[in-house]
Amino acid sequence: MKLAFVNGVVLDGTKDMVPQTGKVVLVDDEKIEDIVNEGEVDLSGYEKVDLKGAYLLPGLINLHGHLSLSGKPPKKEKKKQTDYKKLVKLLTSNALIREVMKRLLTSYAKDELMSGVTTFRVVGGVMDFDGSVRDRINAGKAVGPRILTSNMAISVPGGHFAGAIATESRDPQEAVEDVMKIAKTNPDLIKLMITGGIMDASESGEPGVLRMDPKIVKAACDKAHELGYQVAAHIESPQGVLVGLENGVDTIEHGAVLSDEMIRLFKERKAAHVCTISPAIPYSLFDLSESHALPVAKENSDIVLKGIIECAKTALENGITVGLGNDAGCPFVTHYGFWRELCYFHKYVGASNKDTLHIATLGNAKIIKIDDVTGSIEKGKSADMIVVKKDPLEDLSALSDVSMVCMKGKLITDPKIKRIPEADRVLDKYM
Ligand SMILES: [Zn+2]
Repeated sequence: MKLAFVNGVVLDGTKDMVPQTGKVVLVDDEKIEDIVNEGEVDLSGYEKVDLKGAYLLPGLINLHGHLSLSGKPPKKEKKKQTDYKKLVKLLTSNALIREVMKRLLTSYAKDELMSGVTTFRVVGGVMDFDGSVRDRINAGKAVGPRILTSNMAISVPGGHFAGAIATESRDPQEAVEDVMKIAKTNPDLIKLMITGGIMDASESGEPGVLRMDPKIVKAACDKAHELGYQVAAHIESPQGVLVGLENGVDTIEHGAVLSDEMIRLFKERKAAHVCTISPAIPYSLFDLSESHALPVAKENSDIVLKGIIECAKTALENGITVGLGNDAGCPFVTHYGFWRELCYFHKYVGASNKDTLHIATLGNAKIIKIDDVTGSIEKGKSADMIVVKKDPLEDLSALSDVSMVCMKGKLITDPKIKRIPEADRVLDKYM
C-alpha cells in the first residue's frame, strides 16, 4: 500500500520543527518514502489521504509505562497498600487466567497506539507477558505500538514491587543470575528498582529509601551491558540517583533533586533523566476523597513530585538529556493519557511546547537509540505518524484528540479508545 498525505501541516519532530505546508509525505509499505513539494510528483498509484489542514507529526514515544497495570482509579478509600505480590500470584495461578491477562494487556497496548503512542517502553511487568504482547503485535496478530520491554524488573527482598513485577534478588551474584534469566525471555532492556516507591510505601519518606545495595546495582548493570542491554532504574531520592549514576544506570526514571556531583556524573556517564510527572499528580494534587489514596501516599508524593520536577529543570539547564514517560498503568494514569504528561512538562518544568513535542518524539527515540528507525518524519524512517486537528505548538492538549494514526505504514482513520470516564473527570479538573 502506497499512501500520500496531502494538505496537511507537517511538524517533523526535529529540534527546530518549523511547521511546513505545501508538502506531500509519501509512504511506501512500512516506510516514509519521501517528503516532496506539492505538484512535484505524480500521485497516481498512491492512495491520497487528505488532511484538510490538520497537523501531521511523528507518533509519540512513551518511555515509561506498565501494561500489567490498568490506570484505573481505586474504587474506594484504601485502608492499606495493595499486596501486589499476592495479587500477581493469583493472576498467574493458571493458564486460563494468564491468557485472559495477556489479552487485557494487549488491549491496553492498543489504547496506547490509538491515542498516538507509536512506541511504548514497558518497564516492569508480570512474568514475560509484555514481551508476548510485543511478539503478538510484531507477528500481526494484534494491533499495537512498537513495544520495547524489560519484562520483569530486578528488585530486592522488600524492594519496590518485589515478587510482583520484579525479582527479589538477594545479592550481586543472584542479581547477575536474574539478569541472565530475564535475558532468556528476550527483553529489550533491563529495569532495576533501586529505591522504594509511592505505591508500596507504608511510611512517610519511604519512596526514596535506598533498597538496593550499590554492589547489586553494579553487578546487574555490568551484566546487562555485557549482554547489550540499556539499564533503566526506578529512583525517587537523591541518594538513589547517586547510586544509580555511580554504578552504571543509563536512564534515571522519575528522579530527585540533583547535586553538583550528580550533574557531573550525568554528563560523564551520558545518562538521561526520564521525567514522569503524571503518576504523582493524583496523589499530590487531588483531594483524598478524589484520589482514594492513603494519607501517607500523599505525603510521599509531595516530595517525589517536587524531586521529579526539579530534576528535569536542573537537567535541562545543564544540558543533560531529558526524556518523557507517564508511568501509564498507575492509578489515574490511563493508557491513552500520555498527552497529559506533555502538558504537565510544559506547565511544571517550563519547557516550550515545541521542545516538549521534540522530546516526546525524536528526543525520546535518541535516548533508547532507535532514532535511526523512528521519532521524526524523515525519508527512510518507519511511517509512524499521527494526525491532530489543532496545532500542538499552540496548545499541547491538541494531542488529546488524535484523528488518525499511521503505524508502520498502516493507516487507522478513526482510532477508538476504551476510556475511563471517572479518571478523566478528575484529571481534567487539575490540568
Ligand atoms: Zn513505573
